[in-house]
Amino acid sequence: MKILIIGAGPVGCYLAHLLKQKDKTLGVTIIEEHSSSGQPLHCTGLVSDSLFSRTFFSLPRAAVINYIDGAQFHLNGDSFQIKKKRVAIVLDRRMFDYLLSQNIDVVYNNRFLGLEKSKNKYIVLTEKGDLSADLIIGADGANSSVRKIIDDEQDIKYYFGAQARIKTRAVKQHIAQVFMKKPYFSWLVPESEEIIRVGLIGQNPHSELLKFIKELKIEGQILEKFGGIMPLGSCLSQKDNIALVGDAACQIKPLTHGGIYYGMSCAEILSDCIINRRLNLYERNWRQKFGEDIAVGLKIKRLYEELDDESLVKVFRLLKNNRSILEKFADFDRHSDIILRLFRLKGVQGILEKLLFKFI
Ligand SMILES: Cc1cc2nc3c(=O)[nH]c(=O)nc-3n(C[C@H](O)[C@H](O)[C@H](O)COP(=O)(O)OP(=O)(O)OC[C@H]3O[C@@H](n4cnc5c(N)ncnc54)[C@H](O)[C@@H]3O)c2cc1C
Repeated sequence: MKILIIGAGPVGCYLAHLLKQKDKTLGVTIIEEHSSSGQPLHCTGLVSDSLFSRTFFSLPRAAVINYIDGAQFHLNGDSFQIKKKRVAIVLDRRMFDYLLSQNIDVVYNNRFLGLEKSKNKYIVLTEKGDLSADLIIGADGANSSVRKIIDDEQDIKYYFGAQARIKTRAVKQHIAQVFMKKPYFSWLVPESEEIIRVGLIGQNPHSELLKFIKELKIEGQILEKFGGIMPLGSCLSQKDNIALVGDAACQIKPLTHGGIYYGMSCAEILSDCIINRRLNLYERNWRQKFGEDIAVGLKIKRLYEELDDESLVKVFRLLKNNRSILEKFADFDRHSDIILRLFRLKGVQGILEKLLFKFI
């Protein structure tokens, strides 16, 4: 069977490794529009250690450049901290993607343009000519072209992020900072003793980022700046012999916008479906694993975006007063459990009723 993966990001490359390991008779090729994997950069690289401990195939630890032992949350000058030893790791995303792209068949500088069906095969139109394949995988990221082919009724909201790497002195080398800011949030992630990653989600993220850096009074040299898109919502992830995985399938944590762990875990589920010739079970199987976390996260995100100033302060105080619950039960990757626990706390009902009234 000939499999063509579109996109040599971490998820597409990981899938290619899994397929190669599980069935050596498969012909797996990736086409990638850029000249190498990991370029251009569009990620903070903050993931949980589960990425390394729970994934099937051993990932390149050489790309781990810092460990995070907790987070400090901020709102209007108030703050609180939760501590959790090694709750997350900071990746050098360029190195991570590059190392993952080794020892698999990737054709660079080749853009996917479209596809046509011819009997039981697909003819894939690319910048470098036509290719044929039995199975097409769209691992082509946030703005997936393959997604547009299999689902024209997708329910997706696109978020825009920007980030700067700054050479300065990180205040706390192992603590991430999260700034709650209506309607989105901003972050400061230390990469080393002297380099930090400062980013935000916004309507005009690049100009808002420069303003935010000034507000934080960060002095130092901006080493690089970049932006990127995060698609949150839902779409069909399989039709006929075409499937989507990673950002292309919106396999993203709605509250933090992190997509690496879900995308790579779903690549594992997809590889099993391909090997067992049961591609039709893929959508059901990955939603069984992550569907609830994504659905609950999307609802909470919508509520968060609708909070007025007064309610946001109340939510912040509620989290601050219950930080021991966060420390004990919050999971970096799975959010529905902690959300349901927080919903049972005294004081939440009042905030929810106000929001419900607004929605009606
Ligand atoms: C500012 C920002 C910060 C982020 N921070 C984090 C974080 O800290 N932790 C986390 O887990 N996630 C984070 N994310 C999300 C994370 O970057 C993505 O979830 C992850 O990269 C998804 O991997 P992927 O392989 O699905 O897609 P991508 O990494 O986007 O890879 C898709 C690949 O497909 C290629 N491609 C696209 N179209 C075509 C085409 N037509 N033809 C050929 N090739 C094509 C692209 O060039 C790219 O190489 C962040 C995102 C942004 C924007």
